[in-house]
Amino acid sequence: MECIFFRCTLPRKREEWQVESMAMGEFELIRNFFSSLGIGRDDVTLGVGDDCALLTVPQGKQLAVTMDSLVSGVHFQPDVDPAALGYKALAVNLSDLAAMGAEPAWFTLALTLPESDTQWLAEFSRGMGELAVCHGVALVGGDTTRGPLTITIQAQGFLPAGQALLRSGAHVGDLVYTTGTLGDAGLALCDQLSKTPEKPTFPELIRRLERPEPRVAAGRALREFASSAIDISDGLLADLGHILEASGVGADIHLDALPLSPPVRAAIKSAGDWSIPLASGDDYELCFTLPPGMATRLDEISKSLQLSMTRIGEIGLEPGLRCWLDRDTLWKPQDSGYLHFYADD
Ligand code: ADP
Ligand code: MG
Repeated sequence: MECIFFRCTLPRKREEWQVESMAMGEFELIRNFFSSLGIGRDDVTLGVGDDCALLTVPQGKQLAVTMDSLVSGVHFQPDVDPAALGYKALAVNLSDLAAMGAEPAWFTLALTLPESDTQWLAEFSRGMGELAVCHGVALVGGDTTRGPLTITIQAQGFLPAGQALLRSGAHVGDLVYTTGTLGDAGLALCDQLSKTPEKPTFPELIRRLERPEPRVAAGRALREFASSAIDISDGLLADLGHILEASGVGADIHLDALPLSPPVRAAIKSAGDWSIPLASGDDYELCFTLPPGMATRLDEISKSLQLSMTRIGEIGLEPGLRCWLDRDTLWKPQDSGYLHFYADD
């Protein structure tokens, strides 16, 4: 393998191991784009630059740790806007922290690049930095390698010990809620994939696909009230299904109660199919369960955060997830969310 960008990890011959021959070396790349991304924080004793970062977890707090990868051709088109990609790679991780009620603090970035494209890197790091500053997080380390474009982020956040929002806390009689609206990113993706130059698109929904807003403030506020929570990355059916399984309960969902934007509502009407809001994924809203006595308090939280929180169903004893079209008619899902590996793979 010709070694022009990064230090060779597997040189064929010893003389091929020439750090000096890199176009823009690994270290220059890190220094230029990733050495001070996000905000400076007092709890970072040592960030990017040494073998490890040195970080201080506040007393009495637990560390919540999560990791998500975005792979070119699987999670995004290779020609996607690099700023949006940088933003989204961090957003999907902050969304996991939000689902536990954690306060984001730090993250690390493993970046595999096919080439060292300065303009692409500048845009990528700009988009990532924008969201990092918005949520007060610091990039404290990572790894940079050459290969097919893949972005892996591990994010860490704080939680008061023992107060995490878990998937396993739902009880019979709890109400099921979701933040925001469902299916916008799914419809935007369908639209992008089928786009012909003359076909009108939904520009207002592209932002929902490319720049999802991790519901960090909502997750923190819900920590005291919700009995369980999850972020919707693979579609409501799949993700609520995880809560039901972890909690050992079932649920009834009322499709006429789902919070939908006008384009998604129109798409369901024309296709006669509810899979866009239920199973297309990439929503990054929070689905959570709430003891019934808390509904009034939730309205106050929703108002103060200016984020809609909609009751969509109830937790019941009977296992499984039932979607009701009306009082007497069940809708049968064809697809319950995005799975990377199928049983017959
Ligand atoms: P080592 O060889 O000791 O693992 P590296 O040479 O991979 O260290 O990285 C040097 C420093 O740069 C480390 O502090 C590492 O955490 C950081 N780093 C490497 N790649 C990235 C990246 N993509 N984003 C942020 N920090 C990075
Ligand atoms: Mg390394």
